[in-house]
Amino acid sequence: MKACRQILFLATVLLAACQSQAAASLTVTPSRTMTGSVTMTPTATTVPSRTPTIIPTPTLFPLPTSNAPLVACDERRPDDDLFALVTASFGLDPNYIPGDLVKLGNYVSGYVTLPDLLLRREAAEALGRMVSEMKAGGLAPTVLSAYRSFIEQSITYQRWLVEDPENASQISARPGHSEHQLGTVVDFGSPELPELTGDPAMKFSPLFAQTGEGMWLAEHAHEYGYTMTNPPGAALWTGLAYEPWHYRYVGVDLATYLHASGYFLAEFVFQARPVLPCIPALDAP
Ligand SMILES: [Zn+2]
Repeated sequence: MKACRQILFLATVLLAACQSQAAASLTVTPSRTMTGSVTMTPTATTVPSRTPTIIPTPTLFPLPTSNAPLVACDERRPDDDLFALVTASFGLDPNYIPGDLVKLGNYVSGYVTLPDLLLRREAAEALGRMVSEMKAGGLAPTVLSAYRSFIEQSITYQRWLVEDPENASQISARPGHSEHQLGTVVDFGSPELPELTGDPAMKFSPLFAQTGEGMWLAEHAHEYGYTMTNPPGAALWTGLAYEPWHYRYVGVDLATYLHASGYFLAEFVFQARPVLPCIPALDAP
């Protein structure tokens, strides 16, 4: 993330330098006078023969027009924004809880999920339709995790810190930096995973992508408004490793666009949608 910002910043500086250099070379030529002092003598190129062409200055970083107050990056409140950016750098207010959480048991039938898992209503409705379609096609998806509060994410993160301290921050988002706190994200499981991995207790593995459920989701989840937000290569933007089991609801229109274009959500948001500036934590990775 930092690297990206540095690259963008560097690009801006280089562009500005190139523009000023180009302007100088086109308009003036230094020459020496008898006294040895340097003066800037205009040359023929400075006299426009025609009406000058006005080249608009490109807007590299369009700022939002909102007058929203500048908040800390760890105190953002997305409210009901389905596209809210949540990464290792852009976090959420610890007290943020989506307002329309519903119990998945009322939307997803059968032995697919613990009935008390929560998701925002629109995401739960779409998940119910998607899981029904998967089951009709002979698949057996499970929902291993859905909404996680800041506190629950803290517990999850602490567990990974104990189990795999070196990779914890890549495996699990820090509290306040998990999309699960948005209430629109589901972690799927597959009955094929233990055999594929050789570990009967395995729940999360990149090999999920090779299961029937993983392959179906990669191909069809967008039809129900879901998108994989941490595909291979996304870590530079999101700070998280490849998670083929982790799907976020963004609505059918954007999910379909992302599927067709090959972009993933964080990449799209950074390039196409202004992100409200916020004050990063000094100890942020
Ligand atoms: Zn997840």
